[in-house]
Amino acid sequence: MPLQTMSRRPTIEWQTNGVCNYDCSYCIQSRQHRQGYPSDDTIERFLAFFAQLPGAWEIKMSGGEPFALRGFMTRIIPGLAALPHHVSVLTNFSAPLGVLRRFVDFVGDKLEVFSASLHLEYVEVGVFVKKAVTFRSWLRPETTFVVNNVLVPGTVAALVGVKAQVEAAGLKYFPQVMKTKQGVYAYDAAEAALVKALIGERPTAREANVAPSYKGRRCWAGAAYFVVDQFGQAFRCRTAKRCGEGYLGNVLDGTFRLAMGPEICRYDICPCTVPANRGMIDGISPGRQAEEPKQ
Ligand code: SF4
Ligand code: SF4
Repeated sequence: MPLQTMSRRPTIEWQTNGVCNYDCSYCIQSRQHRQGYPSDDTIERFLAFFAQLPGAWEIKMSGGEPFALRGFMTRIIPGLAALPHHVSVLTNFSAPLGVLRRFVDFVGDKLEVFSASLHLEYVEVGVFVKKAVTFRSWLRPETTFVVNNVLVPGTVAALVGVKAQVEAAGLKYFPQVMKTKQGVYAYDAAEAALVKALIGERPTAREANVAPSYKGRRCWAGAAYFVVDQFGQAFRCRTAKRCGEGYLGNVLDGTFRLAMGPEICRYDICPCTVPANRGMIDGISPGRQAEEPKQ
């Protein structure tokens, strides 16, 4: 596999399951797609695929909600803990602290990035922050812990106080502009000004997810980064998948092949900060702070 990734961090985004225990009104995943989970046998086949990858990859899991999958804590996490890869997770942070403690104990210093999404339709910010502070105290300093927050239209004014509360607790607040199937939500003038205040004038991919376009740049997605869904279907990146392009085969049936090298991006939106923050896009400096690809 020609990774050529000396300055890149090989990364897989694994949508472990579709099921989620929340039903946020602004979720970019339709209810129809927020379904399904792999069988125990399928999980073992995923683990076998990850086991034969050369070198150490970062396997970043999302759903749906990964912790809502029964096999997540019983099979996936113990299985990954036995492999040479690093582990990251994007979660709505609804799992009880007892479960989260076991998670940390399993993955130990393999844990790279833990992205906890704050969904105010389901949790009060003070409760979330208290839990996050406890959880953060269990992590080694090198592990990135971020609080993701979608800038939901109609609520942005209140989020200024939410950001202050998160940051006052010593946590990293990571705002995300609201995405739609077509691109980025068009806020009205009043909220657009608040959005700018929350994310800053020219935020880097470390500071906010503004779903920029890297069209015309050389991108290593497909060669050193890919996304794989709960059925094993792998694609070059999220946008390519959404456009029905960039199919790399299925990791469960032996048809998966990495691309031989980089390609020029031809998409108008890069909705996820992971490729940028893992050094996949030429000219964009990697960072380690930003996360979340979906609402
Ligand atoms: S936004 Fe996240 S937590 Fe909310 S329903 Fe969608 S997947 Fe679940
Ligand atoms: S959309 Fe992003 S990840 Fe996909 S090819 Fe373009 S720059 Fe790379």
